Amino acid sequence: MIFRTRFAPSPTGPLHLGHAYSALLAYDTALSKRGEFVLRIEDIDQSRARPHWEQQIYNDLHWLGLRWPTPVMRQSERLDLYQGALDRLWAKGLLYPCTCNRKDISAAVNAPQEGAPLIGPDGIIYPGTCRSKGAANFSPDQRRPTDTVLRLDIAKAVREARKLLLSIQGGEIARFEERGQGPRGETGIIEFSAQEMENTIGDVVLSRRDMGTSYHLSVVVDDGEQGITHVVRGQDLFEATRIHVLLQVLLDLPTPIYIHHKLIRDENGKRLAKRDDARAIEKYRNDGVTPAGIRKLVGL
Ligand code: GLU
Ligand code: ZN
Repeated sequence: MIFRTRFAPSPTGPLHLGHAYSALLAYDTALSKRGEFVLRIEDIDQSRARPHWEQQIYNDLHWLGLRWPTPVMRQSERLDLYQGALDRLWAKGLLYPCTCNRKDISAAVNAPQEGAPLIGPDGIIYPGTCRSKGAANFSPDQRRPTDTVLRLDIAKAVREARKLLLSIQGGEIARFEERGQGPRGETGIIEFSAQEMENTIGDVVLSRRDMGTSYHLSVVVDDGEQGITHVVRGQDLFEATRIHVLLQVLLDLPTPIYIHHKLIRDENGKRLAKRDDARAIEKYRNDGVTPAGIRKLVGL
């Protein structure tokens, strides 16, 4: 199998120093192993993605010295594949429709007897309001009502994954190799028990309103299809990796090795966000900074 890394930006704003670090690290890692580096445009959120940001991504990465095979995979062209994955999970009985809005969810978790809401990788852990409503006549495809999302029944999913894993190797539910570091220094073989998965993730949304998919589902399907062997990305996604590994098991996809890296922060210690235009790569470039200068700035 060829050693392959990827950089998977969303074209919703300018790339900044944090993106440059992530992309360069993925690129250098692939090259040091005589592997391949691929680029993927994560543009499922069509309300925020813009063609000019996509073009800017190509320009900036090119200027930094990165090269990648074309055509580049774009998630907005792959909605049918994501639907196929949803259909498989639906057929196993692992998804259910949910019509709760943000207000419904916070009202349910703020009920006095509940205590403080638990927080998972996607924010407040969904209290399960719609889980037992049943969906006899519901169709999980793109024709479903636009006010409905599809959630993963995490308890069922974990049970199913355990069944699948026992027949293969008898391991923990989420098990992956971390060659970088999580936010608390986690490294090496990372394992999560069924109970931990159930308690700390909750019923995450796998198909969002007016998207027909979600970050978690698309990233897993695409890393699988592109044959990514080493996922290099920021530590902010370390917690979500458990969800990705669970989905890989359920969809019969290999689990890559993960290399989570430090986040580039501003002088106040805050991680850079899309709106930090002051640190946009293009800005440095216009100020006369060279690609080598960018490498130095991010510590490469
Ligand atoms: N598209 C995601 C982002 O721009 C990155 C996804 C990933 O690396 O898994 O934050
Ligand atoms: Zn609901």
